[in-house]
Amino acid sequence: MSSQLQPVRGTHDLLPEEYRRHQAVVGSARDIVGRYGFEEIAPPIFEFTNVFLRTLGDTSDVVSKETYTFEDRGGESITLRPEFTAQIARAFITHGLKDQTPLKYFYYGPAFRYERPQKGRQRQFHQIGAELLGAPEPQADVELITMAAQVLASLGLADKVKLELNTLGDAESRTAYRTALVDYFQSFRDQLSEDSRKRLEANPLRILDSKDEGDRKLIADAPVNGDYFSAHAADFFAQVKEGLDSLGISFYLNPRLVRGLDYYSHSVFEFTTEALGAQNTVLAGGRYDSLIATMGGPDTAGSGWAAGVERLVTLAEVDVQTIRPIAIVPIGEAAEKQALVLAHRLRQAGYTIELAYRGNAQKRMKRANKLQASVALVLGEDELAAGTIALRDLDKGEQQVLPQDALEEALKIFRK
Ligand code: ATP
Ligand code: MG
Repeated sequence: MSSQLQPVRGTHDLLPEEYRRHQAVVGSARDIVGRYGFEEIAPPIFEFTNVFLRTLGDTSDVVSKETYTFEDRGGESITLRPEFTAQIARAFITHGLKDQTPLKYFYYGPAFRYERPQKGRQRQFHQIGAELLGAPEPQADVELITMAAQVLASLGLADKVKLELNTLGDAESRTAYRTALVDYFQSFRDQLSEDSRKRLEANPLRILDSKDEGDRKLIADAPVNGDYFSAHAADFFAQVKEGLDSLGISFYLNPRLVRGLDYYSHSVFEFTTEALGAQNTVLAGGRYDSLIATMGGPDTAGSGWAAGVERLVTLAEVDVQTIRPIAIVPIGEAAEKQALVLAHRLRQAGYTIELAYRGNAQKRMKRANKLQASVALVLGEDELAAGTIALRDLDKGEQQVLPQDALEEALKIFRK
C-alpha cells in the first residue's frame, strides 16, 4: 500500500467499535464533572504559537521538541494545541471573564505532540480535563483531585491507579529551592544528560522530571523541596492533605514529582498505574496561580488536571450501551419499496431501523442477526397484499402477523 494511504505516524483511525468505548469513557467523565458544576467548553484546536510558547516555557519538552508548528498562508505562526490549559487561560483573558470567577470548565478533544510514537504515546491523542479559575483556596485543589478520583473510579480504575502528590511551593519557596538545586547539580554537571545540562540554567526543577537513567541516580540524592517551603506554602499544602484525608482519598507523597510544564506552583499530582508499561501516568494536574497574569491577564488563580483518553480507554471497564436496531426484511421488489416507506415512518417515530439491503430472505435475516437486531419485520408478498407485517422477536424466536397500523403499538415493548 502506498504510504499515502496509511495514516500519519502516531495517528489513528478510531473505528466505531473503539470509538464507542472512547465515547463511553468521555461520557462517564462528563457525567461526574457535571455533578461538581463543571461546564464543558471547546476552544479551537490551534492557536497563535505564542499562546503556548510563553506559557509552557520555551525549555519545556513540549515546546522545545513536541509542538506541531507551522506558518499559515497569511504568514502567522500557528501551533496545534499540545494541551488545553494555556488556551483556556487565553480564552479567559479574551472574554474578560474575571468578574465571573470562580469558573469551572471541563473539556474534551484532540491534542497534538510530535513525540516518538509507542504504546500509550501518540502524536494525535485526546484529552479530557478540568480547570477551576479564580479559586486560590486549597479546598479548590481538594475538590479537583477528588473529582479526578471519582472520574477514575467511575471507569473501574479505583484499584488500578495511585495518587502521587507533591507541592512546588509558592514563588518564594521555589526560588530558594531552585538555588539549592542549581548548587547541587552544578557539582555533577559532567554527569548530567545533555538535556538536563541545558535545564540547569533555564529550569533546574525540570531535571527532577528527567527520564534519563544517569540523571535519575543523581536526582535520588538531590535536595528535597520540603526543606525550602515558606510558612504559607507549608500551610497551603497541609490544608490540601487534610482535605483529602477527610474524604478518605489516599495519596503518596512524592517530593520528586514535578510537572513537565513551567507554570505550576503549590499542589501538583498524578494518578499513575502499573498496568500501562512505561507510560504510567493517566491523569495529571496542578495549580497554576501565575499563568493568567504571565499571559497579560488579570491576576487570577487557577488549578486543573488533564487525562489521556486513549490511556483511560486501555485501562477502563466501561459499559458500552448500544441501541439494538429493528431490522426490516422485505421480500420482493414491491415489498422493498414499501419497506423504505415503513423505515421512514418508524425512524420518525423514534425507532432505530436497519434496512437489510441485499439478497434473499435468508441472507437478509442473517444480516439482521449480525446487527443484533431485537426484532425483524418481515414484509413478503402475502403481507403486502393483506396490509399486514410479520413481527419476529429474534431473542424469543416467536413470530406474529399483525396489521401494519398496529405496528407502532406492538413495537413499544422493544423500545429502549
Ligand atoms: P508523559 O510524562 O507521559 O509524557 P506529560 O507530562 O507530557 O505525560 P501531560 O502534559 O500532563 O502529560 O498530559 C496529561 C495526560 O495526557 C498524560 O497524563 C497522558 O495520560 C496524556 N498524554 C500526554 N501525552 C500523550 C501522548 N503523546 N499520547 C497519549 N497520551 C498522552
Ligand atoms: Mg510528555
